[in-house]
Amino acid sequence: MSEKTIFKKIIDGEIPADVIYEDDLCMVFRDIAPKAPTHLLVIPKKEIATIDDIADEDAAVMGHLWLVVRDVARKLGLENGYRVIVNCKEEGGQEVPHIHLHLMGGRKLTWPPG
Ligand code: ADP
Repeated sequence: MSEKTIFKKIIDGEIPADVIYEDDLCMVFRDIAPKAPTHLLVIPKKEIATIDDIADEDAAVMGHLWLVVRDVARKLGLENGYRVIVNCKEEGGQEVPHIHLHLMGGRKLTWPPG
């Protein structure tokens, strides 16, 4: 067995997180090193390492994440806009091998990212 990722440990309640929302399929918590006034991570509870590892059968859970993004953004008052980023593997800048959507907002974001 490979070692649990930091996000799996959060899902299993082994390390604390500032959880904003949770249901059977996903969790939303604050990024520990925020790059914007609001910086959340939206993750499936299912262990999917990267975008490349999404299976056809994961379509519903991945779609669900977007509905949660919409609802959480609304709840947090991000009506002026926000950004959702998914880094994929090494060249995409992915550090944690458990797929996660970065939901960032609360300031005017620049483009393109580095
Ligand atoms: P990067 O670190 O380059 O942004 P990722 O896309 O893999 O790579 O993002 C991992 C994110 O997880 C980072 O924004 C990091 O700050 C965040 N993070 C790492 N450990 C924790 C933790 N224990 N709780 C909340 N967020 C965390």
